[in-house]
Amino acid sequence: MNGFAQGLFALLFPSDCRLCSAPLIDVSRLPVCHECLTSVQPIEGALCSLCGERLITGFAAPVHPASGICGLCRRAAPPYAKAVAYGSYDGSLRELIHLLKYERVRPAAKVLGRMLADVLANTQVVGNSELLVVPVPLHATKLRQRGFNQSELIAAAAVKLARSRRSDSQKLQLNTKVLRRRRATDSQIGLSSHQRRENLRGAFVISKREIVRGREILLVDDVFTTGTTVSECARVLLREGAARVWVATVARTLKADTRELSLTAATPELRMAAQA
Ligand SMILES: [Zn+2]
Ligand SMILES: [Zn+2]
Repeated sequence: MNGFAQGLFALLFPSDCRLCSAPLIDVSRLPVCHECLTSVQPIEGALCSLCGERLITGFAAPVHPASGICGLCRRAAPPYAKAVAYGSYDGSLRELIHLLKYERVRPAAKVLGRMLADVLANTQVVGNSELLVVPVPLHATKLRQRGFNQSELIAAAAVKLARSRRSDSQKLQLNTKVLRRRRATDSQIGLSSHQRRENLRGAFVISKREIVRGREILLVDDVFTTGTTVSECARVLLREGAARVWVATVARTLKADTRELSLTAATPELRMAAQA
């Protein structure tokens, strides 16, 4: 079935929520219930001002929250100016992304795009200049298998929404052609950071240098895990003359949740009190 037929089918025959199996009451093209959607919350708390990783403050943590920059970024600053993400890559958000990527439920892109537009609006990731929005590309083989590039669908939905919302202080221009993935890459899972970089070296190219030269660029991906992919894309864009590269993703893997860490991160007195 094509996307339209799929959507029509979902309208005529509402199924159960694809995340929690609750019966769906509202008619929607996205087979996900209201509760599952509202359970996706933006990341809160102190984050690294460069990569967006959670800064774990307190006794046992080897970071200096006062600097606002995590240990990894202090050791080696990322090539991009700043990376922001809407939510933590777990729970319903992770499942929503999988619904889009692996089960090809395309209407999920719209809700993920809304989250991306929200994080852009709230963090004011960029100044007032015109932004070139560039989704992280898939290799042609992967694109054929999946039928679409999820980052492209998410970026397109976010740009559309941002345009309708803004007082037009900022212009967003989507370009899905300028960055290409010319080489299929092996899975990054289980590789060291050095191996990940090697794995991606030369994988991305720019089709037309004139398009990126001197431009502020917003790189969009679905998930930020280690940041190796967006860093490699940013390096290529900067090498070809981009002025600055920002990164926005719908989700991000984060260091362990602060709630789980509250005991180890607390002061000795608090830990003793908690154990008592
Ligand atoms: Zn549900
Ligand atoms: Zn960082």
